[in-house]
Amino acid sequence: MINIETPRIGVYICHCGVNIAATVDVKEVARFASDMPCVVIARDYQYMCSDPGQELIKRDIKEHGLNRVVVASCSPRMHEPTFRNACEDAGVNPYCFEMANLREQCAWVHSDKDKATEKAKDLVASAIGKAALLEPLERKKVGVVPRALVIGGGVAGIYAALEIADKGFETYLVEKEPSIGGHMAQLDKTFPTLDCSACILTPKMVEAERHKNIQLLTYSEVKEVSGYIGNYKVKIRKRPRYVDEQKCTGCGECANACRLRGRIPNEFDAGMAMRSAIYVPFPQAVPLIYTVDAERCLYITKGKCGKYPACKEACPADAIDFELLEEEIEVEVGTIVVATGYELLDLAEKPEYGYKYDEVLTGLEFERLSVASGPTSGKIIINGKEPKEVVFISCIGSRSRKEDECEYCSRVCCMYIAKQAHLVREKIPDAKVKVLYNDVRAYGKGFEEFYNRARKEGVEYIRKELEDPVEVVKRKGEDEKVVIKTIIEGEKIEIEADLVVMANAIVPRKDADELAKILKITKSADGFFLEAHPKLRPLDTFTDGIFIAGCCQSPKDIPDSVAQGVGAAIRASIPLMRGEVEIEPLVASINEDVCVGCGTCEAICPFDALSLEEGVMHVKEVVCKGCGSCGSACPSGAISMKHFKDEQIYAQIEVML
Ligand code: FAD
Ligand code: SF4
Ligand code: SF4
Ligand code: SF4
Repeated sequence: MINIETPRIGVYICHCGVNIAATVDVKEVARFASDMPCVVIARDYQYMCSDPGQELIKRDIKEHGLNRVVVASCSPRMHEPTFRNACEDAGVNPYCFEMANLREQCAWVHSDKDKATEKAKDLVASAIGKAALLEPLERKKVGVVPRALVIGGGVAGIYAALEIADKGFETYLVEKEPSIGGHMAQLDKTFPTLDCSACILTPKMVEAERHKNIQLLTYSEVKEVSGYIGNYKVKIRKRPRYVDEQKCTGCGECANACRLRGRIPNEFDAGMAMRSAIYVPFPQAVPLIYTVDAERCLYITKGKCGKYPACKEACPADAIDFELLEEEIEVEVGTIVVATGYELLDLAEKPEYGYKYDEVLTGLEFERLSVASGPTSGKIIINGKEPKEVVFISCIGSRSRKEDECEYCSRVCCMYIAKQAHLVREKIPDAKVKVLYNDVRAYGKGFEEFYNRARKEGVEYIRKELEDPVEVVKRKGEDEKVVIKTIIEGEKIEIEADLVVMANAIVPRKDADELAKILKITKSADGFFLEAHPKLRPLDTFTDGIFIAGCCQSPKDIPDSVAQGVGAAIRASIPLMRGEVEIEPLVASINEDVCVGCGTCEAICPFDALSLEEGVMHVKEVVCKGCGSCGSACPSGAISMKHFKDEQIYAQIEVML
């Protein structure tokens, strides 16, 4: 049942410049609205969202005693809050406002003015029908736990954590790997300025470790998140390193004593250098604490190791402890920033690119080959000698129409190819360097200049069509050169090379799905985490209090990842600073007299917002997102959605019919 005072409705039809007015006869729609029941005043106006437009509503509310307002303009996603605020300013409950979308749902999708005007009348009538039955609702305020969680310790996550911590809030920085740093720690120089990547990143890694407000939780993963903005409860699984974090000094004696010393490919070096079963990924790791690789250590996997307890005994700090167990840490935070980064398209599954040959590398492998701290101390060496013919191939798996590849552009490859080509020319001046490309996307600050510089240095750019296939093969009998077969200007060609570097696509992490489910955030069709609005809310998710930054949202370079990290941190800090958040009252409500306690709704709610108490279902209003799933599932019809009650929706339909 809906009980409301006698409705006195004001209706406002917006021209939106000519966006609506060119296709809809706005004056006729306003005239039509003025004849509808309960409508006290109906007007049309150039821009309802402008200050004078809002003033018009406020003045009419006061002069005509309006208690319901309908604005027919653009999408509610844009201006519903604007008009709700205008109503509230003039003393009308903001939920006694209804919007009809005459732009996206009418003017922009029709060309026949008469028919569009008729449809606009239907849309306005429907909004008026609902407005007459709208009920005032109150927003709830809840307190905010003044702490934040950042998931992912790459450059985006490090900057996010530092920003929140600098504002004075305790911040947990959770990183899956033994060290923070992410992909940036693996890079050699960075485009377009050629800064040494580690030199600019490691001071920030150390700052994050030392910051009094940051608690680093490395080798850890978020397993469960419950609650809502301001009050998230998070369970974190901290894997055992089998090394006491408080005791280890990072001296490395254990790694020297390990039976598998130099036998395990080091992931950080893209498998191009070897490590022990007890290791740090790289010398500047933060924290500099050794970790026993539980999947490789012979003592852990097989129960015995020929050298045990040599590693343990080698440790001067008595830090190695094979009895250590996994820990579960529970924290409460107000907001969360997700910055879990990317992976590269796996070339092992694409034999056409010849990745099995030693002469074919990914872009990331090239970075490790070129960096001074890498396995070859920065010497570009293939098959024991300097390559004299080097070919870079762009868009490997990006901008592709193949089903198992990516339609989007990976955004950083054109520029890192220019950088890597420059590095080859610098280190091997007599090397011939070619780039097989389709377009060069040098869109950023200093990018075009950097690309021109690479060309001037003698890098030869050869344009091929995007659709033309690339195949990398080795001729029989030849073991030190590969041949790239492709098509240039319609002709089949073959290019010989000592080294081929593939710019393989930046792709979402394989575990992104699992994390999306834990956090109840959504992904876009390309598999990256989805922002709430691509232009106006690029750092928000659809889950209040959870923000995204860096390459987990889409491929991007370091400056953009840093900017997003800082931006997401600022967004995440706002509720922490305010100390309370307002919760939308558009939630489910249960009629306790009708509910039979069957539990159907509880099982279906994607947000765990329902709980059975003494045989009757209850809604946790701060958790409920008002999605309506429960309402449609309840077999007893016990659930209604505030602001979207059956009577209100039926009224919308009836008035149109
Ligand atoms: P990442 O660096 O991927 O960091 C994400 C972090 O999150 C990682 O530490 C990861 O272990 C962690 N993580 C993932 N999942 C979880 C989880 N569930 N829980 C906890 N932690 C998790 N950009 C430039 O500007 N200049 C360059 O010269 C340049 N060169 C490049 C060269 C190559 C070959 C490539 C591939 C990229 C290059 N880039 C360059 C791009 C650069 O790598 C990215 O912009 C940057 O690394 C993005 O940082 P990020 O923090 O978003 O992600
Ligand atoms: Fe740490 Fe001990 Fe290994 Fe040294 S020997 S790195 S103190 S575990
Ligand atoms: Fe009650 Fe309906 Fe939920 Fe069953 S589905 S518990 S009847 S509200
Ligand atoms: Fe859960 Fe129902 Fe609220 Fe949706 S509307 S979040 S299903 S309680």
